[in-house]
Amino acid sequence: MKLDLKRIAVTDGETIPFSYDADLTKEEMNGEYPFRTPVHVEGEVRNHLGVLNLHATVRALYQTQCARCLAPVNVDLNVPCDMILSAEVQDDERDDIYQLEGDSVELDDIVIPALLLEVHMTYLCKPDCKGLCPTCGKNRNEGPCGCDGRQIDSRLAVLQKLLDKDD
Ligand SMILES: [Zn+2]
Ligand SMILES: [Zn+2]
Repeated sequence: MKLDLKRIAVTDGETIPFSYDADLTKEEMNGEYPFRTPVHVEGEVRNHLGVLNLHATVRALYQTQCARCLAPVNVDLNVPCDMILSAEVQDDERDDIYQLEGDSVELDDIVIPALLLEVHMTYLCKPDCKGLCPTCGKNRNEGPCGCDGRQIDSRLAVLQKLLDKDD
């Protein structure tokens, strides 16, 4: 959403509130399209002693799968975003200042990157998810699969081979 800042540019205390939905259904992350519902953005830009402060909250439902057992995982993301909007050219790149071009701002350019920064590479369905058995593929959260004994045997066999080498 594009916001015209002219109205508040000169008066201390003036604000422009905003509230809108962004469409991120085409946003690919880690090979998936996890934002299947509208992303809600809410906040305001306030002129505080001549400085334009953006304060926003981005709410999104991130739909992915458990990295261990592939069960569906829905993550509620609630990301605060605070930024100073400045038309002045900054000497060094500061991540709390957004460089304005002209007297309007495209909010998506600020709030969407802030949201994406909060996304983790992987999510789990629960912290102690036991995952799938690498041998038979059974979901170990639903109970043991019977491969465990054999697995220990094969590990011991590898160990035995290493010991044999040392001789
Ligand atoms: Zn899981
Ligand atoms: Zn198994």
